Amino acid sequence: MPPVSGVPLGFGRQSSSPEPAACPCGGSAYSNCCGPLIAAEQLAATAEQLMRSRYSAFALAAKDPKAIEHLLRTHPETGQTAAARRKALKESCRNIQWLSLKVLDCQDGGVLDKYGTVTFEARWRDRDRREGVLKECSRFGRGESDEWLYLKALSLGDVTAG
Ligand SMILES: [Zn+2]
Repeated sequence: MPPVSGVPLGFGRQSSSPEPAACPCGGSAYSNCCGPLIAAEQLAATAEQLMRSRYSAFALAAKDPKAIEHLLRTHPETGQTAAARRKALKESCRNIQWLSLKVLDCQDGGVLDKYGTVTFEARWRDRDRREGVLKECSRFGRGESDEWLYLKALSLGDVTAG
């Protein structure tokens, strides 16, 4: 363990610098959290990281084309062209605003795992200002290059069955 006195001077933000943009997922600053994943500069290390970045991508998709590409890239789906999926995602993101995320549970999905599930609640508001909470258990697995991918939503009754 390094001594506490080893923390370099100036560690932490200067009070005069502007607040970095918070990540939609509720984590730290966007540039240290989901930002690098959505920009395709980094791969998610865990299923939870991918889940959070996909939530943030949904939250940002209306104004950031990279977010749409992140959603497409991390959710393989056959039987529909990328163009059709892109269009459907854009439409759904125009109608729904994602307000906040709460991760409730993670099973596996760590750096050494092949599969994992993440259970979460996401608050939303639609164009008519109706609000609600989506509760989902998402299943994740590794792709051909070992990258984490979103596979599907499990019904919440299946959660413990894995
Ligand atoms: Zn984040």
